[in-house]
Amino acid sequence: MTASEIRQQFLDFFASKGHQIVPSAPIVIKNDPTLMFTNAGMNQFKDYFLGNRVPPNKRVVDTQKCLRVSGKHNDLEEVGIDTYHHTMFEMLGNWSFGDYFKKEAIAWSWELLTEVYKIPKDKLYVTVFQGDEKENLPKDQEAYDFWKEHIAEDRILLGNKKDNFWEMGDTGPCGPCSEIHVDCRPAAEKNLVDGKTLVNADHPQVIEIWNNVFMQFNRLKDKSLEPLPAQHVDTGMGLERLVRVLQDKTSNYDTDLFMGTIHTTEGLTGKEYAGTDDKKDVAFRVIADHIRAISFTIADGQLPSNTGAGYVIRRILRRAVRYYFSFLDVKKPLLHELVPVLAAQFSHVFPELQQQVDFVKKVVFEEENNFLHTLESGIRRIEDFIQHAATKAVDGKTAFELYDTYGFPYDLTSLIAAENGFSVDEKGFDAAMKEQKDRSRAATELDMGDWVILDETPNSVFVGYEQLESTTKLLKYRTV
Ligand code: ATP
Ligand code: MG
Ligand code: MG
Ligand code: MG
Repeated sequence: MTASEIRQQFLDFFASKGHQIVPSAPIVIKNDPTLMFTNAGMNQFKDYFLGNRVPPNKRVVDTQKCLRVSGKHNDLEEVGIDTYHHTMFEMLGNWSFGDYFKKEAIAWSWELLTEVYKIPKDKLYVTVFQGDEKENLPKDQEAYDFWKEHIAEDRILLGNKKDNFWEMGDTGPCGPCSEIHVDCRPAAEKNLVDGKTLVNADHPQVIEIWNNVFMQFNRLKDKSLEPLPAQHVDTGMGLERLVRVLQDKTSNYDTDLFMGTIHTTEGLTGKEYAGTDDKKDVAFRVIADHIRAISFTIADGQLPSNTGAGYVIRRILRRAVRYYFSFLDVKKPLLHELVPVLAAQFSHVFPELQQQVDFVKKVVFEEENNFLHTLESGIRRIEDFIQHAATKAVDGKTAFELYDTYGFPYDLTSLIAAENGFSVDEKGFDAAMKEQKDRSRAATELDMGDWVILDETPNSVFVGYEQLESTTKLLKYRTV
């Protein structure tokens, strides 16, 4: 089964249970000071849960483009090293806004996984919230009892607040969640090792695929809980992980979601991807992952820049460039060549990339090209430093020089340092950065950034770039 078919089956299954199929929200979030990028399917529905807006339908299903590279969810460090955390991924989700609750959500997720997708039952484990006395949170006995109708009790594991309780913030809607994990190892292998479960233990073949959140409480300022007037279901299943399970692979990167870009990279570099932990193979995975995040974020209206969300994208891009430069021996721009491959692959799901493919390709090319001009000398600088250092630490001033003169984002310096067993003085880096900011703030009062927003009314959505000039990007907005 192809990834496209798997995605469509999810949407069709919940449509058959009365859900309306809705489009993904953009990956880039404007007008929300608390969040730069969509990091979960529920973000775009926040106002429905808070009761600020009325949903178009009480049952909704979608696939949401998510990015987890900053804030509460930051998976960047794992990407390429492990085989199941991505920067950008698709979160499949079904939603009940004050309609069905635990019984149906549990029954349908079981039906979909075991009857439609036909995942063998002896590969599945589920987790249920065990309760937390200190925080006055009850065990989710209801979910436990509903699961018991479908799955053997020794496959229902109790989990702590970190994994099995969801809250929007210190106050507001919250509730227990129930996760589904797949053990991809041969069925005979035991889940318990030294009395400890492999579920939620970072085992590369025992992975979480689906989270069912049951919003049932409102947390008040004094920490007490009151029942919500209406109860909601919010679920999220990582498409890339699901596809990996259904295509019977040991890595997300071996699925048809990533093999197109990996094969193209092989063709462009003359190197072969072997799926090992070797630096070369990590580079293939990092590139295949990062180019998705970069392309879709640019297509959704965020250009690389030196501040805020734009800098996050620039950091991801530079990280990918450094990987092909150092480990695939490529010294000229490469990433932009992958943009059309992705655009074609996703044209039926996320047409926004195909619609702006030439523009996105050009932006990526210019970014890589610029960075490549200073990358080599920057690498020489840090290697020289490492060779002559008295202690295994990069001081803040040097880290800042790498940032300022060679365009090395802090996390890139830190990555290279770590590869050589060095740490970096982050505080010293921040202090040097602040010093420079204070100086430049004094020099110029007005900072235009990279954006000129033509129409910033809250009711307008970004629909594409109109023109690209050397310093000013004009954006097109449509009023909704
Ligand atoms: P994990 O414990 O593996 O980091 P999570 O508990 O942080 O996952 P949730 O916030 O529960 O993930 O998100 C719902 C689902 O989204 C997960 O069950 C998983 O399938 C998928 N998912 C989460 N983070 C990633 C990621 N970085 N890359 C790919 N899929 C992800
Ligand atoms: Mg996580
Ligand atoms: Mg988890
Ligand atoms: Mg989870």
